[in-house]
Amino acid sequence: MMRRRNVKIIATLGPASNVKEKIRELFNAGADVFRLNMSHLNHEGLTRLHALIREVEAEEGRPVGILVDLQGPKLRVGEIADGAAMLEKGARFRLDLDPAPGDATRAPLPHPVIFAAVEVGQSLLLDDGKIRLRVTRTGADFAETEVIVGGRLTNRKGVNVPETVLPLKALTDKDVADFEKALELGVDWVALSFIQRPDDIAEARKIARGRVAVLGKIEKPQALIHLDEIIDISDAVMVARGDLGVELPLEEVPGWQKRITRSARRAGKPVVIATQMLESMIASPVPTRAEVSDVATAVFEGADAIMLSAESAAGQYPVEAVRMMNRVAESVEADPTYPGIIYSQRTEPEATGADAISAAAHSVADTLKAAAIVCWTNSGSTGLRAARERPLFPIVALTPIPATARRLALVWGLHCVLTEDAHDLDDIAERACRIAFQEGFAQPGQRIIVTAGLPLGTPGATNMLRVAFVGRKGSAAD
Ligand code: PGA
Ligand code: MN
Repeated sequence: MMRRRNVKIIATLGPASNVKEKIRELFNAGADVFRLNMSHLNHEGLTRLHALIREVEAEEGRPVGILVDLQGPKLRVGEIADGAAMLEKGARFRLDLDPAPGDATRAPLPHPVIFAAVEVGQSLLLDDGKIRLRVTRTGADFAETEVIVGGRLTNRKGVNVPETVLPLKALTDKDVADFEKALELGVDWVALSFIQRPDDIAEARKIARGRVAVLGKIEKPQALIHLDEIIDISDAVMVARGDLGVELPLEEVPGWQKRITRSARRAGKPVVIATQMLESMIASPVPTRAEVSDVATAVFEGADAIMLSAESAAGQYPVEAVRMMNRVAESVEADPTYPGIIYSQRTEPEATGADAISAAAHSVADTLKAAAIVCWTNSGSTGLRAARERPLFPIVALTPIPATARRLALVWGLHCVLTEDAHDLDDIAERACRIAFQEGFAQPGQRIIVTAGLPLGTPGATNMLRVAFVGRKGSAAD
């Protein structure tokens, strides 16, 4: 399955798509990575979906990424009597530790950390920010508030405390258990929700010990303060616009999307744009023009991946949503304005062998009008640096390591192919020509640019560039 686009598509699985044939349809429609959301899955469900994706992967013969999204310290109110209560603007509303069901004047909030941390004058947001409260008095086990924006409050709705750093562990006990299960299964990415500081990622890295790549979800204002350090320590980041749009004024989210995307591109770390990209397709086979524009913006910005949440997990048109994203991406990348916009954010190579060779490969490919750049990558780091260049040539990433191919499924422009370990440079060039030909990226008589690191198998040691001619039936003829 050859994709004719650089940006990757992540599809979340859920009730609308959790059977094998649907997963296959989503893959064939364009999904490169599947997201499994631990807010809605137990270990049995996770194990089952993981197995189904791997079956589809084996049958379709292409590496597929699996991203497990940990719930994180999601705060919620408790139960409300009769399931719902109407909070009126201007009314007083109390939150406390009393587990008795709530009503229009109070509700249980089983999180003492909030009471200890919030201060008078700060905001508490309920139900994705639909209800806004201002704190008027606090104690060890309660907060009194005034309702600034009212609404209907139902059972167990989410609570956001945007102006306060809460002394919460980034990984709850549930997250650690889910993390261990994900490691045991051998997934490719684990996403951390509601991170507030670089240390949150550091903690996850200690658990991961290199066995899984760690993605930091940027969805709290506190994370924006330490953005560059968080990008530095993460393997990838996500612009998680759902919660970010609750914690920040909504109108600030697009600017932050650009800043996060640029910083991540500069660092050579994959960046995912997520949430409500084709929201109306949950219930409609056709998206709004505004949604199509939103997807297009992310593609023009050179994001690594665009993500579907409820559209593919719980909507009526999961396959159509992936297909639509794919069409928008292909069309944007074929637009004559695309190269100029992508290159306006191009960043200089850093002073490393991998970057120098990646930049040189780009330049040589340009001069020779080469058919493709083929990079040999073991750990995946050379693949990442090649993608950071954003060359508008197909980039084929060859690796003998399945986990690397799967991890790189999330990365801009990389077409990953699993191959046997190579003996030497001639073997790599031979294999590069054959695979570029077989995968449809190069024709006999065309040139490809091959990069690799010698000695083979030394991570990050990319130091070699070779121009190879694709001969008859794809053999190397240089
Ligand atoms: P969620 O994260 O769907 O797990 O909340 C994404 C977001 O907040 O945008
Ligand atoms: Mn979120």
